[in-house]
Amino acid sequence: AKTKGRGRHAFFDVDLRERTHRRLQLEQDLREAPRRGQLWLAYQPIVDLRTGETTTVEALLRWNHPRYGLISPAEFIPLAEDSDLINLIGGHMLRMATEEILGPRQRYPGLQLTVNLSARQLDDPALVPAVREASQVSGLPPSAMCLEITESALMLDPTAAGRTLAAVRELGARLAIDDFGTGYSSLAQLMTLPLDTLKIDRTFVSGLGESRDAEAIVTSIIAMAHAVDLTVVAEGVEHEHQLEILRELGCDLAQGYHLGRPVPADQL
Ligand code: C2E
Ligand code: CA
Ligand code: CA
Ligand code: CA
Repeated sequence: AKTKGRGRHAFFDVDLRERTHRRLQLEQDLREAPRRGQLWLAYQPIVDLRTGETTTVEALLRWNHPRYGLISPAEFIPLAEDSDLINLIGGHMLRMATEEILGPRQRYPGLQLTVNLSARQLDDPALVPAVREASQVSGLPPSAMCLEITESALMLDPTAAGRTLAAVRELGARLAIDDFGTGYSSLAQLMTLPLDTLKIDRTFVSGLGESRDAEAIVTSIIAMAHAVDLTVVAEGVEHEHQLEILRELGCDLAQGYHLGRPVPADQL
């Protein structure tokens, strides 16, 4: 048993060392990734539950690393957030997305683009100019763009976030609160922010049809959001029965593997 224990311990050390090494390597490589063309965007459709039409696509970052292969944003976005890289990458992502959406928009004229913002970008004075510039260079009107901010990012500093959001809104872009239900914001706090859309986190959507609690939570989120005139998107819809329940509950839009996986722009 002792040998086994030591073995496990040694294995853990190797594992930890490897993960630390990977992290450092990725942090370093991420700096060069935009310039080397290793970052690309996958787009996932967001569908109107009444008409069945795709009204919006969400841009989701991908990184093709020369050694580690395809890396998830769940791994590299936090690394970028720990350094100032997030602002560089965020700007790069905005330019790519506003260019790439133009082709699909010719085929589907009203198509909207929604992009993700990090907490760090909310207090970057370059954010608003970057949105304006991406719109001017591509010709995509700000009114065709939405910026998503997670509930937890908004709550870090609601006052500062409110100022940035007001400036983004001034440009004509829309704003969405992402992963709603996972943070601890109150309706009173949310109402002070100039939001257009609320995205219900996948954890609640996946419980639909299985737990009464999930259905009660989703019902009340939709009622609350509609009461303050927000459009509601359900995230992470993987099954038809979830879609049916969401329709019955009066949810406006939905997104998830059941409706379409994230794909490169030319496959939209
Ligand atoms: P998110 O904004 O909540 O995006 C939704 C995530 O759920 C995406 O993961 C998407 O691929 C995944 N997803 C969509 N439908 C389903 C489904 O039916 N089932 C399941 N299990 N998952 C589904 P992804 O692409 O790995 O992105 C992870 C997170 O990384 C995003 O979560 C977002 O917070 C962040 N992220 C992605 N792109 C960017 C970016 O350009 N900038 C910033 N700051 N963050 C980004
Ligand atoms: Ca999002
Ligand atoms: Ca989300
Ligand atoms: Ca999320």
